[in-house]
Amino acid sequence: MVVSEADCIFCKIARGEIDAEVVHDEDDVLAFQDISGKAPVHVLVIPRQHVANLEEIGDLPDAVVKRLFEVASAVAGKLGVTESGYAVRVNNGPDARQEVFHLHLHVMGGRKLSMP
Ligand code: AMP
Ligand code: ZN
Repeated sequence: MVVSEADCIFCKIARGEIDAEVVHDEDDVLAFQDISGKAPVHVLVIPRQHVANLEEIGDLPDAVVKRLFEVASAVAGKLGVTESGYAVRVNNGPDARQEVFHLHLHVMGGRKLSMP
């Protein structure tokens, strides 16, 4: 599924055109509360640059890819789940039920989580 940056809901959040509960905001990476959180802590970490999925991750500068994970860790710290632990997850493609085609990390914690 191809969604243009103009129509992409996470690009709209990154541009400030749609409200989100922002947890962390910096030049290349943004983190905000998932609108239907599945755990006490459920935050999405996105690159501001639109890439649809992991197949396009090469379009991101290496430093931004690294920064996504650093921000995931920072968000976990800010929300108090570093010690209790948390999961960082990418849903990629149909079998993973990817719904939003702008790459994002789910950061989930605050209760015992199970796979998948
Ligand atoms: P997925 O693409 O499967 O990783 O899931 C996309 C996630 O984005 C879901 O957990 C949704 O609840 C979340 N989501 C969708 N729209 C918004 C929004 N406007 N603000 C915050 N989270 C959203
Ligand atoms: Zn986008």
